[in-house]
Amino acid sequence: MIYSKHNIFSKIADSDNYFIVNLLSGSADILSPEEGKMIQDFHKGKEITPDFFENLKDQGYFVDKNEEERLFRNKYLNFIDDRDDDEVQLFFVPNYSCNFACTYCYQDEYSTVKQELTNEIIDSFFNYINNEFAGRKKYITIFGGEPLLNSQKQKDLISYMLHQAKKFNLEVCFVTNGYSLEEYIDILKIADIREIQVTLDGIGITHDKRRFLKGGGASFEKIVKGIDACLQNELTVNLRMVVDKENIEGLPEMAKFAIDKGWTKNSLFKTQLGRNYELHHCQASSEKLFSRISLYETIFQQVKLHPYILDFYKPAYSISKFLAENGSLPDPLFDSCPACKTEWAFDYTGQIYSCTATVGKTDESLGSFYPEISRKDEMIAEWENRDVTSIEACSSCNLQLACGGGCGSVAKNRTGTVCSTDCRPVKELLELGFASYL
Ligand code: SF4
Ligand code: SF4
Repeated sequence: MIYSKHNIFSKIADSDNYFIVNLLSGSADILSPEEGKMIQDFHKGKEITPDFFENLKDQGYFVDKNEEERLFRNKYLNFIDDRDDDEVQLFFVPNYSCNFACTYCYQDEYSTVKQELTNEIIDSFFNYINNEFAGRKKYITIFGGEPLLNSQKQKDLISYMLHQAKKFNLEVCFVTNGYSLEEYIDILKIADIREIQVTLDGIGITHDKRRFLKGGGASFEKIVKGIDACLQNELTVNLRMVVDKENIEGLPEMAKFAIDKGWTKNSLFKTQLGRNYELHHCQASSEKLFSRISLYETIFQQVKLHPYILDFYKPAYSISKFLAENGSLPDPLFDSCPACKTEWAFDYTGQIYSCTATVGKTDESLGSFYPEISRKDEMIAEWENRDVTSIEACSSCNLQLACGGGCGSVAKNRTGTVCSTDCRPVKELLELGFASYL
């Protein structure tokens, strides 16, 4: 019997207790200070008492090495099988241009190709996805730049896209800055809209200092009206707040604002927090950025002072929220990067990319759907093969089944290769998560 290589063990934040989690056996336990100490001492060569050892063995924290490897292989094969049945998210970028000049935009260095979206290109996109993903569950997310620009030409193109999506029974999501939502409400009713993701980085000036119109001009009030209009028209809104050290102090008042508006009680209202991070190029002041763990430590402290934040946003703290809400662990995560597996991205120039992180970077193009269909098979295979079994460092990492290897694009920007690590601070997040929810 060996101590399982998939055990994640640590002390719970602000507590004397410990936790142990094993995503392969599906066990999670809170341990007393004495039990925690026994595990620590075991690593220094001391024995564990027979009763406690039996418990740990029953929960799969102590295992037969060969049996554990067999279980790993079986669960991995199930994961691959299940993924083949998963829904595919197909991003479409109608333009990279935008009416905003956000301070942290990662697309600001993308060169604009002198070509315009046409109904013919939209038709080619639908032909391509209907052939390539025939028989697979799929939906479209329209992304940008800003897709909902307030011009008649853009409205005509988006209407055409939505009519086509409706014709092929495909649901549609939008990722928008939200500025022209009111002007688009009637157009959005053409198709089955799954959700509209809108970004607010705080209330009033906190937001307006970061997300303003090109050439200047506040946007907060108009976006709020757009969100209200969506909810009144039964369109689901996913409010995203992009945070860094400049605006995190505004999280409590953002939460209070959403609560007072009645948004958080609306079943059509969801939220997410996005960490501002360096995706492709250095941000002007990277010292304002949070690391993943420092962000969650800050939120943990804020929630202690303002518990109502949880009505607005509940941090996942890795798998902790899932465990608390479901009473069981999620399935092992052999791969956390959906690129070229359950996610693809397409743009108005006819190019195909792995996902939203690479879309628009010409050197990352994986082929084209217009004017001709082409595929760069070797590059696609690199993305398709990426998981914790193909990334060497992950296969010996005890966090692998909670982390899944992180983001392939972040990994590639760091190391030059897709098949490398983007480590997640799983243990530290669980320390906070057990303290918060369990
Ligand atoms: S590369 Fe990163 S952003 Fe793209 S799908 Fe993978 S995890 Fe998501
Ligand atoms: S990316 Fe890093 S933390 Fe995640 S499984 Fe691989 S080695 Fe472990």
